[in-house]
Formats: sequence, structure tokens, C-alpha cells
Amino acid sequence: MKKSRLYTPGPTPVPPQATLAMAQPIDYHRGEAASAVVRRCADALKTVFQTSSEVAILTSSGTGAMEAAVVNLLSAGDKVVVVESGKFGERWGEIADAYALDVVRIAVEWGESVGPAAVERELNRHADVRAVFATLCETSTGALHDIRALGELARCADALLVVDAVSALGADEMRMDEWAVDALVSCSQKGLMTPPGLAFLALGPRAVEASSSAALPKFYFDYGKYMANLAKDTTPYTPAISLLYGLDVALDSMMGEGIDAIYARHARIGRATREGVKATGLSMFPRVPANTLTSVRLPDTLDGKALLRDLRATHGMVFAGGQAHLAGRIVRIAHLGWMDDYDALVAVAALERGLAGMGYPVAIGSAVQAAQVALAT
Ligand code: PMP
Repeated sequence: MKKSRLYTPGPTPVPPQATLAMAQPIDYHRGEAASAVVRRCADALKTVFQTSSEVAILTSSGTGAMEAAVVNLLSAGDKVVVVESGKFGERWGEIADAYALDVVRIAVEWGESVGPAAVERELNRHADVRAVFATLCETSTGALHDIRALGELARCADALLVVDAVSALGADEMRMDEWAVDALVSCSQKGLMTPPGLAFLALGPRAVEASSSAALPKFYFDYGKYMANLAKDTTPYTPAISLLYGLDVALDSMMGEGIDAIYARHARIGRATREGVKATGLSMFPRVPANTLTSVRLPDTLDGKALLRDLRATHGMVFAGGQAHLAGRIVRIAHLGWMDDYDALVAVAALERGLAGMGYPVAIGSAVQAAQVALAT
């Protein structure tokens, strides 16, 4: 028997009580019971987003919510600043290009986090920027961004701040209203412990105002339709009702734990994982690591793809590799969502076994010990 353990930055493990909820018979999505589920999810999402604004529930993956943010806030030719520090920042740029926006790119070296001064420079250089697009945790590198600093800058420049918290929501601290974030997107299959298929978009008051004059074409992702229906505790189109059952249960457990306790748990697990990795002699890839995932730089002499294959085949451990030019160069160990202290120990235990199996000189037990000490202190 091989037990498989999922440590990818989406999808993430789903708690059994959420899985069970999704097995219940399908109900009519316009019925009272379904509306109660929609309302409970929408209310809990406000807490997770840390906003008093409504959160639209879309049936799509996270990229759908990113596209929804773009089409609901902007008009063709609008100038936008896009922070590109990895694959997902680049995705903002690709969506903006697809809709013929005037894109000012801030190219950040992969593994780095954008310096607020770089954003300020572009905002000063271009007086007519309508929106700044950024990413809380750049999942392709594991780097965390200082969204609070960007919020202040965007406000001063009268530009909207649009943030992708697809991977980090419910893991790394994210306070939409307090940090002056105008639009925030996320999805179900990461910190929210639900299978892929649901995405979320919250617009703050300035973004709602912008949406009334945004002229980009839209139909399925028309924010106004989602709000009109959410006012009646429903969605404009048939939602992924089974996923909503699971989300309802997952969010209920998050509400029980409390958002600050959730941040603290991820901070503890993240730190323990990093300490464990350091004890193997390896280092973190990002300069400012998120608590969502730990991205580990591999030595040139080590075949990263073979390491991942062996971890999966021999140890049942599913880590993620690097994307684009980082393929084979980094290993990404996600510890978000349904994860606890012992999951961090398992992750670093498997990492050191995998490294040893590849002939990398690691003292077996050293990573586990370092992580255990980090957890206990
Ligand atoms: N943004 C970030 C930061 C992500 O991590 C991901 C998924 N890994 C996406 C966007 C895209 O989400 P999806 O694959 O659900 O469309």
C-alpha cells in the first residue's frame, strides 16, 4: 500500500467532513436550502477576505476571477501597472493584453518581491494609471508581497489596487479593507480546502464605482449580475452546487478556528518547514518567503525532476516542481489549508529521505529535529 500525501499549492487536501458534504444528493440550486448555503458561504467569505463588501461566488478556476476583475473594472485602452514577479503576475499582464489595455509592466526578478518604490516610480511617471495589479503570494516562486504598502501608493495615485490572493487567502495575512485593496480574487482549491471549481471576487466601494463605467465586454462574469443575485442569496447561473456544500463546511471550520489563528498556524508551519529545509543545507528560493508554500532552491548538481519523481513514487509525497525556467531547479512544498504541525514534520522528513536517496549529503533526522524544535518553541 502506498499512502499519497498532497503538498501542492493547489489543489490542496480536502477535510473528510467537506468531502462527505459533497457526497449528499444534489439539490435544486434555486431552493431555500441552496440559498442558505450561498448566504452562509458569502458571509464567511467576507471574514476570510477581511472585508465588509460582498464577495461574488463564480463557478470557474482562479483565473476566471482574475479575468472577472479585469473586465468589470476597466475599458479598452485604459492604462494599468502590472507587477510581474513570476508566472501569476505575468498572467495579469496576459489578461490585460487580451483586452487591449495599455500595460506598464514592472519586471521583477523571479524570487524577489516588488519594491514599493518601483511601483511608486511608475505611478509618478504615468499620471493616468487606472489600476495596479499585484499578487499576494507569487506561487511560482513562493515570494510574498507587501500588499499593504501598495495599497497606500495606489490610493495616493487614485488608481485601483487589484490583488490576486488565489493561493495565499486563508494562509498568509490578507486584510482587504484595512490595506486599501480595491479588488481581491481567490478560489476554492487552496487555503479554502475545497476542490477546484469555485472562484471569488470582492470589489470595494471604489471598485464598485469603477465597475459602473467599465466598458470591457463581459457576459458570464458581469459583476452586477452576481451582486443582484447575491442580494437574493443566489447566483446568476447554475453554481457548482456540490462544491458549495463542501465550501460551506470548510468555511464553517475556518470560522470556528478564527482568521488570526489560521494566520498563526500557517506562520508556525511555514517557519518549521523553512527551518527543516535549512537543516538539510538547502536554502529558500524567494527572498521573502510566504507561509503559503516553501520554495526550495536545489543545487545545480541535483536533478530536481528526478527528486520529485522519487518522492512521489517511493514516498507517496506530492510536491510541486518549478515552473518555466525554474523547472528542475526548485521544489515547492505547499503547507496551506488543511495542514497542521505534523504535516510539516512529514514534509521535511520526506524531503531529507528523498535528498539522501539522490546521494545528496544530508544527516537523516536533522531536518525533522529542526522543524520539531521550531514547532515546539
Ligand atoms: N494566481 C495564483 C497566485 C495561483 O497560485 C494560481 C494557481 N496556481 C492562479 C492564479 C491560477 O488559478 P487557477 O489555476 O485556479 O486558474
